[in-house]
Amino acid sequence: MGNAGGMNGPKSQTILVVGGGIAGITAAIEAAETGHDVILLEKGPTLGGRVTRLNRYFPKLCHPTCGLEINYQRIRKNPRVKVMTMCEVSAIAGGKGDYTVTVTRHPRHVNGKCTACGKCAEAVTTEIPNPFNYGLDKIKAAYLPHEHAFPMRYVIAPEAIAAGEGEALRAACPYGAIEPDEAEETFELNAGAIVWATGWRPYSSSRLEVYRYDESPDVINNVEMERLAAHDGPTGGKILRPSNGEPAKKVALVQCAGSRDINHLPYCSRICCLGSLKHAAYIREQYEDAEVDIYYIDIRAHDKLESFYNKVRHDPQVRFVKSKPGHVEIGEDGRPVLCGERTIEREIYKEPYDLIVLATGMEPEAVEGYRPDVGVTVDEYGFLVANGASDGEGIFSAGVASGPLDVSMSVQSATAAALKAVQVVRGG
Ligand SMILES: Cc1cc2nc3c(=O)[nH]c(=O)nc-3n(C[C@H](O)[C@H](O)[C@H](O)COP(=O)(O)OP(=O)(O)OC[C@H]3O[C@@H](n4cnc5c(N)ncnc54)[C@H](O)[C@@H]3O)c2cc1C
Repeated sequence: MGNAGGMNGPKSQTILVVGGGIAGITAAIEAAETGHDVILLEKGPTLGGRVTRLNRYFPKLCHPTCGLEINYQRIRKNPRVKVMTMCEVSAIAGGKGDYTVTVTRHPRHVNGKCTACGKCAEAVTTEIPNPFNYGLDKIKAAYLPHEHAFPMRYVIAPEAIAAGEGEALRAACPYGAIEPDEAEETFELNAGAIVWATGWRPYSSSRLEVYRYDESPDVINNVEMERLAAHDGPTGGKILRPSNGEPAKKVALVQCAGSRDINHLPYCSRICCLGSLKHAAYIREQYEDAEVDIYYIDIRAHDKLESFYNKVRHDPQVRFVKSKPGHVEIGEDGRPVLCGERTIEREIYKEPYDLIVLATGMEPEAVEGYRPDVGVTVDEYGFLVANGASDGEGIFSAGVASGPLDVSMSVQSATAAALKAVQVVRGG
């Protein structure tokens, strides 16, 4: 792809974007629309990243398709963007203008002939925890990742192949799209500049042992709350207690669950307060008689979203309790009981709830697995401070891979990274 630049210029004018979330998608389109070839690599089966798994997103509280779909249209219309899903980078060698990137492609077992007709899902019997819903429900092991998937193509989970269902699936597909024998493969790409946009993952709730996440099904975390409220989530959008399916009408939202804590994530993830304010709104929209208690150290509603904070604050059925809860007990009726001290009143509380939601923070996805080790600076938390311009390299980070950001900030950082990448491949 695109070798140019003359004797001293970049050897490749292709820009590689790693990570197909909102940041990677933005960087890829912005760079392609300036006339450059772009390869967008995503390790999962679809684009959209974690935004697709939100129920709605601020500032306007729209559904994730609003925002993502328009970008998918731009990708569809732009032949310069090549999307490669199920692909992970395993090594980067070389330097600015001439990187050799080793990529591992995981088998999807479904090729481009798939029309998303769903015959494979009818044929398969193996079930797996639903990755889209963070394992809150189960799905067939031949599945469409979600209703707005891009590409709109099924995936056969390795569990179905391991269970010996491959041939039955092949036979069930009228289009010859199933490839049970597809194996993992490794190949190399050449790129002049790289945008690293691998995003985040929720901090592990299991590590917050005092909050009993692993012991009570009614203790969940904020990303699971997004799925619980979503129409395509495990409960069809009803906010119900996972333990018994009853409406969750008395809910505690625990801020800074593991954040701003030297034993876990020492930093603030910036979005959790607004996330919980959004969750309070989800619950209050569903149940007129719901009571929501938000336990906080201090509320950090940045930018113009202060007005959203004030709106929620004026709801008399949403209580703000200044307190960092100490621990969770399990009550005799099975309900989780939140225990701690109200900091202002200096009163000890032991409050039972239908549902406790832990507002866990975002940690960089690249804390595990491969991350670039040339031309980037990794901060003490694992975020990539990749400002290639200052150290003469051609790798730039975007979105939450570079630090905790909301969607609009991720998009801004992605546009900036795309422009820097364009400058590199133009020999600037
Ligand atoms: C509970 C909660 C609620 C939120 N609500 C809002 C909201 O209402 N509004 C808002 O603005 N923000 C919200 N956010 C923040 C928002 O989710 C992020 O800003 C956004 O996801 C950042 O996008 P990204 O592309 O940087 O990362 P991601 O969404 O994480 O996307 C990264 C992509 O990279 C892929 N990837 C990872 N590693 C690799 C690899 N090695 N190779 C290839 N691909 C890889 C991943 O599979 C993923 O598709 C919320 C966050 C939380 C925790």
